[in-house]
Amino acid sequence: MSQLVYSSKINKIRSFALILIFSGIVLMYVGLLFKKTEWVMLIFFILGIIAIVLSTVVYLWIGMLSTRAVPIICPSCEKPTKMLGRVDACMHCKQPLTLDKALEGKEFDEKYNTRKYQKELKEKQNNKSK
Ligand SMILES: [Zn+2]
Repeated sequence: MSQLVYSSKINKIRSFALILIFSGIVLMYVGLLFKKTEWVMLIFFILGIIAIVLSTVVYLWIGMLSTRAVPIICPSCEKPTKMLGRVDACMHCKQPLTLDKALEGKEFDEKYNTRKYQKELKEKQNNKSK
């Protein structure tokens, strides 16, 4: 059986933003190599600027997400971490966590965060109460 490692969503987005910044710098650096052909240099510079602007947007987005994230103490490593959505992983030890008692003990699955799943769950509950 293959063991899947889940990383915390905030960490995932953060590393994505970091990759964007680096690729922006690399693109601009490549642009400098084309000093002689101005339009090529310009294209690389514009792409680099777009990547850096995008990463700034992603960082702002992380900031907004962080304020909505639920701070908790990880039961596994006892460090403070933040949770996004109904299921997430600990930032430090990658321990899958859930806020939903109904999902406790179930296998960690990203699908629990999707709208479709929550809709299905609601429909199921409605059918039961009928
Ligand atoms: Zn932990």
